Amino acid sequence: HSLFESVELAPRDPILGLNEQYNADTRAGKVNLGVGVYYDDQGRLPLLQAVRKAEMARIEAAAARGYLPIEGIPGYNKAAQTLLFGQGSELLASGRVLTAQSLGGTGALKIGADFLKQLLPESKVVISDPSWENHRALFERAGFTVDTYPYYDAESHGLNFSGMLQSLQALPPQTIVLFHACCHNPTGVDPTFEQWQQIVEVVKAKNLVPFLDIAYQGFGDGLEEDASVVRLFAQHDLTMLISSSFSKSFSLYGERVGALTLVSSSKEESTRVLSQLKRVIRTNYSNPPTHGGTVVSTILNTPELYTLWTEELAGMRDRIRAMRTQLVQKLKDHGIQQDFDFVLKQRGMFSYSGLTAAQVDRLRDEYGVYAVSSGRICVAALNSGNLDHVAASIAKVLA
Ligand code: PMP
Repeated sequence: HSLFESVELAPRDPILGLNEQYNADTRAGKVNLGVGVYYDDQGRLPLLQAVRKAEMARIEAAAARGYLPIEGIPGYNKAAQTLLFGQGSELLASGRVLTAQSLGGTGALKIGADFLKQLLPESKVVISDPSWENHRALFERAGFTVDTYPYYDAESHGLNFSGMLQSLQALPPQTIVLFHACCHNPTGVDPTFEQWQQIVEVVKAKNLVPFLDIAYQGFGDGLEEDASVVRLFAQHDLTMLISSSFSKSFSLYGERVGALTLVSSSKEESTRVLSQLKRVIRTNYSNPPTHGGTVVSTILNTPELYTLWTEELAGMRDRIRAMRTQLVQKLKDHGIQQDFDFVLKQRGMFSYSGLTAAQVDRLRDEYGVYAVSSGRICVAALNSGNLDHVAASIAKVLA
């Protein structure tokens, strides 16, 4: 009799399943738009020059690999805060902000969720409909009930703002509300700054607990611009949590680089909060790994490398935006009747294309173009070599 006899097979991750199917596909012109990573115009996962230089310097220095502090590398955490709140931020000077290096954005969400469960055991969590699929699973695993608030409006390919606002207004105090601070995954649809101003008013008036997830800073309109929502919330004197991911912005997916930042109401409070957050970390994985964190910290704290990195990040952002423009143009060239201009308004790596599950199936089966069944495509996986085939294939399934 085995201990594991009653263990059921878990459903496989739909996106990983898609990748397996793609890898097994032997057709020459196949294109994988189901991924969640940035590829360059040659269809390769880039290793940034700034990363390469920082890694060379690290190898040269031949540093020993001792344990890091529980909350990670101090220079990394400080730099993560500066990315969020800006150079010379008064908030940072006040000592109200504390940060822990985390195992990617996922790790930041997880230690944040564990910390919140201890603090607010009765609270519910609400996430956007739809959201990154791991949001729900992760908060449920931490013991929360997870509901959704209206977000995407399929009809307009935009935001259901009135639905969203009404739903937030009806939440009980201390509900934890997860927001995507920029470049919403999976839709690519973000509220405007004016809409965020209204959202933040509701969050404040209803005493909600904002948890801002920022996994694509630098992929929307720029590093500073993409932090504007985080800064807006901070200006309203809200206490909040922020999960940062550097997986995409440094193309360091496998190094697990992220940060959890908490904004408290005083320096003294921060000390207490950090002491509790450290207990959460200690009982999860003790302390974070050294390599990725050192690389990111070196880049963010070395002026030449920082400049190089911002240029490379701008290159990624500009390429994605060029792909949006070219996709829309090519669809027109292929004679489609539908208006796809909404793709130009979306931000970040993804687009909710409006394709139905049946159309996504046809794209894959007949043309070797892989997308998520929701119609999500990764614009960052388009390139000058596959764009025409993708546009022609979409035009055919829409005809
Ligand atoms: N939040 C969102 C919205 C994401 O899209 C992702 C990654 N796809 C993450 C968090 C997690 O990022 P990481 O890979 O750094 O854990």
